[in-house]
Parts: sequence; structure tokens; C-alpha cells
Amino acid sequence: MISLTETQRMLIHTAEQIADSYGPEYWSQLDASGDYPEEFIQQIGKQGFFGLAVSEAHGGSGQGLTEVVLAMEALCRGGGGGGPALGYLFGLLGTLTVARAGSEAQREAYLRPFALGEKICAFALSEPEAGTNSFNMQTTARKQGEGFVINGAKWFITNLQHSDALLLVARTDMHEKTEFSKPELSLFMIDLPNEQLTYHPIPKHGFNYYKSNQLFIEDLWVADSALVGKPGEGFAALVPTLNAERLLVAAGAIGIARLALSRAVDYAGERVVFGVPIGAHQAIQHPLARSHAQLESVWLTVLQAAALEDAGDTGGNASALANIAKYVAVEAAIDACYHSLQAFGGAGYAREYHQERWWREVQLFRLAPLTQQMTLNYIGQHVLGLPKSY
Ligand SMILES: Cc1cc2nc3c(=O)[nH]c(=O)nc-3n(C[C@H](O)[C@H](O)[C@H](O)COP(=O)(O)OP(=O)(O)OC[C@H]3O[C@@H](n4cnc5c(N)ncnc54)[C@H](O)[C@@H]3O)c2cc1C
Repeated sequence: MISLTETQRMLIHTAEQIADSYGPEYWSQLDASGDYPEEFIQQIGKQGFFGLAVSEAHGGSGQGLTEVVLAMEALCRGGGGGGPALGYLFGLLGTLTVARAGSEAQREAYLRPFALGEKICAFALSEPEAGTNSFNMQTTARKQGEGFVINGAKWFITNLQHSDALLLVARTDMHEKTEFSKPELSLFMIDLPNEQLTYHPIPKHGFNYYKSNQLFIEDLWVADSALVGKPGEGFAALVPTLNAERLLVAAGAIGIARLALSRAVDYAGERVVFGVPIGAHQAIQHPLARSHAQLESVWLTVLQAAALEDAGDTGGNASALANIAKYVAVEAAIDACYHSLQAFGGAGYAREYHQERWWREVQLFRLAPLTQQMTLNYIGQHVLGLPKSY
């Protein structure tokens, strides 16, 4: 087992305590009502969870991605299940990007309130024609005077209803194009609410306490100072954030699966059918044991990938391991949630036992924020050196 510092152990302990106070019943009620987990988000904000990887000078605790990953796993495993995952994940993407690529003025203005959870930042990359293929983006930001005018549409943009800022990706295309050149993408930080933005929620399969929205942007003027990083270099500025996103997804998935699995183990040890506990049958026991082995094993890969990121690895090893960790963790977690639900029999399908919710939630991570196919494309092309397949 990897050794943790005293500070990391305390962080995990705090996350577990919060997760315990906002346990499965809390999320079950929000799942039914569709209400936002305001209290929970405020609580992790107050405890500094959004600022773990933000410097002390900007209101954070100056730790790293490893600590963020440890916090995510513990919040999910400790009782939250999928509940904490999307709120914590999407609240961090803008923060991590501004911390790395923002101007000093942006860091001053945004990082402290983000780090303290006083303000929440949403993230708008995906569009109907540009999910997996971001370079097909249609949202444009055209230069006008000392700023840009943004027009376009995005979809699945999560948490706009409860966000104070939005990190938005748009095409700037300020240089002449050849048939081989890629669109120039740029990042903009936009304060919310803003009258030029309209949105409405997309009803979805799970996670309905976090609304994911169709977003329309019409003639939104932003000053040059809203640009995060250099114009046209938005995708490069996002790469470290997207690696972090993969590891946060992996950690969240593992946390959900460990919670589901521990409940299934308890149930399988107690539930007697045909005179013995069902856990005595290998058809129940082996899938749970296999899931445990897979989750323990991939957790080490997640921590190693986070450590590489924290060590500033720029040689591609960190990206390789982030994709590997995301792929394996999500498959292992889905498998674990499936077998945990099965161990409950019909009760697994009942809302009361939470397994059906965790099963609904964990599946998201096969699709979003990045599909499993794209992680395999990355591993095939950049790790194994095979030709680009698309
Ligand atoms: C609940 C939820 C919340 C979300 N929140 C946000 C958010 O806050 N902000 C945001 O920007 N986005 C968000 N998204 C969007 C998410 O990031 C995209 O849905 C995701 O990137 C996939 O894009 P797509 O849905 O357009 O799939 P598509 O690009 O249409 O792909 C469809 C399928 O084809 C496969 N495919 C496509 N091309 C290839 C290829 N070359 N090789 C192999 N397979 C391929 C894909 O893997 C996928 O399985 C969210 C999505 C969901 C469901």
C-alpha cells in the first residue's frame, strides 16, 4: 500500500466525515427531488476542498492533484457515492485552468473565491457537433475592438444554475487557414449571470441534482482581459486540466464502486437463502472479490499518475498514465457496481438500497467527460505508437 503523509491522512479523514454527514439518504432525496446539493457544496467549499491545488497566495492550501484525487475518492467512498463527483469535478476545472494558465489579474480576481468555494465555475466545451471532436467547434469569438463577440451553442453544460463564472471555449481563428490547419480555440472567463446567455436543462438518466444544460450564447461581448492564456492556444492550455479531469473521474468512479461493494459485502454476509448466506456461493463471492482486486490495483495507478502530474512530468508519461487509469478505473468500477447490485437481488433494483442509483451514476464515466473509446484511441496512438485511427 502506498504511504500517505500525515496531512493526506487528515484530509481523507475530513472527507470521510463530510461524506458520512451527507450520506446515501441525503443523495437519495436529492435524486428524487432534483434539487441541487447546496449544503454539501458549501461544506466542501468551507473546508477548502476546491482550493487544495491552489497556491496559498491565492487562498488555497498549496497542495497538489494527489490531494484532490484523495479527497474525491474519500467523498464518494465515505457515503456520497456519485453525489459528490460531478459537483466537485466541474467546480475544479475552471479553478485548475486559471491556476495554471490565467493572468495574474485573473488569478487575483477568481482563485480566492473559487478556492474558498464562495464562487463556483462551470465549464463549457461540448457542443452538439463537437463532443468527442472538439476541433469541430462552431462557437466563435470574433475580434471586435478591445474584446471579442461570442456566438454559438453548447450542450450538457453542468451546473450553470449555481455557478458564478463560466470557463468557455470558442474558436477565434485569427490567423489565415490552410487546408491542414486546425481551428484556433481560445478560453474565456465569463461572469454569471449574463443576459447574453440562455440555457435550459436536459432531462437525463442520473445525476439530476446537477442540471446539465443546453446553452445559447448570443452576441456576448467580452473584453480582451477575459481571455485565459493566449488566443488560439486554448486547447494546449487545457491539456493539464483534462489530465486532471481523467484522474478525478477515475478517483470518483473508484469511490462509488468501493462504497457499492462494501454495502454488497455486508449484505452478502447477512442475507440467507437456501440456509447459508449468499456470500458463501462463489457465484456471488468471486465477482465481489475480483472487483475488490481490480479496484485496489487501479487505485495505485491513479495515485501514481497524480504523483507524476504533481512532479511536473511533461514527457507524456503523465498523460499516458492518466488515460490508462481513467480507462481501467471506470471499467472496474462499472463491473463492481453491476455485481454489487446483483448481490442484492431484487432489492438491488429498489431505490431504498442505493445500488440502482450508484449503477446509474457510475455509467456516466464511460461517456463523459471523456468517452472510453477516446482513452483507447490515446493509448493506441500515443502509448503504443499505432497509426492514428480516426
Ligand atoms: C451528464 C453529462 C454532463 C456533462 N457535462 C459537461 C460539461 O459540464 N461541460 C462540457 O463541456 N461537456 C459536458 N458533457 C459533455 C461530454 O463531455 C460529452 O458528451 C462527451 O465528450 C462525448 O461527446 P458526445 O456526447 O458529443 O459524443 P460523440 O462525439 O457524438 O460520440 C458518440 C460516440 O462515438 C464514439 N466515437 C466518436 N469518435 C470516435 C473515434 N474516432 N473513435 C472511436 N469512437 C469514437 C464516442 O466515443 C461515443 O461513444 C457532459 C455530458 C454528460 C452526459
